[in-house]
Amino acid sequence: MSRVYNFSAGPSMLALPVLEKARQELLEYGSTGQSVMEMSHRSKEFIAIAEDTEARLRRVLGIPANYKVGFIQGGATLQFAMVPANLMTSGEADYWVTGNFSKTAAKEAAKYGKVNITADSGDRNYTYIPDPAAVQESPNASYVHICQNNTIFGSRFAQLPKTRAPLVADMSSCILSELTDVSQYGLIYFGVQKNVAPAGMAIAIVREDLLGKAPENTPSLMNYKTIIDADSMYNTPNCWDIYMTGLTLQWIEEDMGGLAAMQAYNEKKAAILYDYLDGQSFYNAPVEKPFRSLMNVTFTAPSTELDDAFCKGAAAAGIVNIKGHRLVGGMRASIYNAMPVAGVEALVAYMKEFAAANGGA
Ligand SMILES: *Cc1c(COP(=O)(O)O)cnc(C)c1O
Repeated sequence: MSRVYNFSAGPSMLALPVLEKARQELLEYGSTGQSVMEMSHRSKEFIAIAEDTEARLRRVLGIPANYKVGFIQGGATLQFAMVPANLMTSGEADYWVTGNFSKTAAKEAAKYGKVNITADSGDRNYTYIPDPAAVQESPNASYVHICQNNTIFGSRFAQLPKTRAPLVADMSSCILSELTDVSQYGLIYFGVQKNVAPAGMAIAIVREDLLGKAPENTPSLMNYKTIIDADSMYNTPNCWDIYMTGLTLQWIEEDMGGLAAMQAYNEKKAAILYDYLDGQSFYNAPVEKPFRSLMNVTFTAPSTELDDAFCKGAAAAGIVNIKGHRLVGGMRASIYNAMPVAGVEALVAYMKEFAAANGGA
């Protein structure tokens, strides 16, 4: 077996112990005589798996009792619609546009009512997050939506805005990467394929008082209350993803030592990469320092030809999926929880080699 260092933004690397555990249990889960993939979602074995996954998520993230958890299909993109469908009670909401996903979320929300773009960092190609003190919240907004970590551009909120209306955050690419005070939010959602599990599910964490306000004609599967009241089993859920999410949470809790330790590990990895970038002049890292993402590190070589050569050479060295998003160009190293320190070290060694071979220092 030979495994590469996969820097993909998503779907992305899973922790090796998680994959090994899944393999070990693939043909028979416990002594059930069947795979999780073959189980009824109504069986007591699977209900125990789902309950354990939610309990672990609550423990690891420190979710207060007045928040409910839903396992929902349709990815983070369906959440772009579910949020306004359920929460836009005043007919308007505020959106911070700090990257491509928040822009798409705002567009989707505009199908449901008035969207106020109260902050927009498009003027400098999303290389920063606007100062919360300079952002005026609309008096009639039902909620304020942010994308906390901008996967494509490699920026993140250094501090959360203090809002009157509930804060709603897309945390698809930063969930479980650092300590999070859930009580600061009205609703958190994330697609699991960046930092948690295989593609195919999103998780929403919703403050109780925000539930039950969707209009009557809201599709059942788009109503948080319907899903949550049925323990995410209103219809057949993504059982495999719920199981895999549980394995990743177990890995964070038991192998990595919890979220604080996970954060320290991620800070260490990011520092290796950013310290190298700051000490040289061949590559350029476009994101302004205070807003640099812990998870997605963007940088460019001196020309697009060199960017292409960089990615080709990297792949030959077992460093794959490092090409930047087409909106940004250059490179993007996604260093989610499952990326080991050794992977980041291998990347920096290759970056040094490539720079030296192409006239850089
Ligand atoms: C990947 C991503 C999405 C889209 O997720 P899907 O699950 O593919 O719908 C949305 N927001 C952010 C921040 C992302 O990183």
